[in-house]
Amino acid sequence: MRIMPNRLDRGFLKYQEEFEAKALAVLRSGRYVLGPEVEAFEKEFAAYTGSRFCVGLASGLDALWLAFRVLGIGAGDEVIVQANTYIASVMGITINGATPIFVEPDEYFNLDAERIESKITARTKAVLVVHLYGQASNMGPVVRICRQYGLKLVEDCAQSHGARFDGKMTGTFGDIGCFSFYPSKNLGGFGDGGAIVTEDEKIAADMRMYRNYGSERRYYNKVVGANSRLDELQAGLLRVRLNHMEELTKERRRLAERYGRELKNSALALPAVRDHADSVWHQYVVRCGERDRLIDYLDRREIGSIIHYPIPPHLSEAYRSLGYGKGSFPITERYADTVLSIPMYSGMTQEEQAYVIEALNEFC
Ligand SMILES: *Cc1c(COP(=O)(O)O)cnc(C)c1O
Repeated sequence: MRIMPNRLDRGFLKYQEEFEAKALAVLRSGRYVLGPEVEAFEKEFAAYTGSRFCVGLASGLDALWLAFRVLGIGAGDEVIVQANTYIASVMGITINGATPIFVEPDEYFNLDAERIESKITARTKAVLVVHLYGQASNMGPVVRICRQYGLKLVEDCAQSHGARFDGKMTGTFGDIGCFSFYPSKNLGGFGDGGAIVTEDEKIAADMRMYRNYGSERRYYNKVVGANSRLDELQAGLLRVRLNHMEELTKERRRLAERYGRELKNSALALPAVRDHADSVWHQYVVRCGERDRLIDYLDRREIGSIIHYPIPPHLSEAYRSLGYGKGSFPITERYADTVLSIPMYSGMTQEEQAYVIEALNEFC
């Protein structure tokens, strides 16, 4: 049996008729960018997250950098962010000229709230929380610290659609929640897409302005904006999938529970889930001290796996100018050296999962 780390085709086939009908309807509609599908999706996604406003954008990265832009965060400002994240989180900060201040993660792969306060300076303007791998971060202390120090709070929810902390949706704890609808995300489209959610009417209005060349009225440009518009085809197809989010999340939880129950190998550390937090299992991430050997072993059994992520942002060539080196963030670097995402996708069959579990249990 050959098993890929992800199977996006399965996610399509599951609701093929609905996707095809929607795609045809949009193609025939004559409206292709920022039309009724985008408006309807924004309403439905706001309702899904329990937010007042949603603004559709062209990508998750755009959601992040535009978030800091509308919050007025730029050169000379510092933003606290966890060190073990996808590099887009950090680019959202640095595109604006602001400086990322890295914090080590906790044992749940999320920002360690206890390490935030010691990083706050007179320049600190915001905290960016990343709900990595689909698990909600420890938002209680994060929200408390942001209030106490008057910091903006932005959430990177590119991996956490539908995940809650203490019953409240990720993306709704701070000023802006940023989402990606890249095809492999839990709520994925068939191309690029993104959105922000917010309670603040002014932020929503500014976002709408920025996404369309900084114009509120056609050909009247108030600020230098971006072209970051969500298109009708993506919005329509996202509405189809959003309608099924509950069952899609349940399916991932069922797969994760089975891994948790049946994986029994002392060479693997299974992911821990925090009390009061839940995970939507964007990835199922194990840790292994002999990861290279494990990857080879899985390859030989034709089981694909992926490292999320092998090079932490502070060691990336793109951020050499920040001046960090090996050893700057030891916990983050240890994770980068040991984490491995095993196959987990919508439409994974029981036989496929059994095959992966058997192989992992026989690894020694
Ligand atoms: C995917 C992702 C992004 C970027 O989203 P794009 O739509 O690819 O721009 C940002 N942050 C995290 C944590 C992600 O996983």
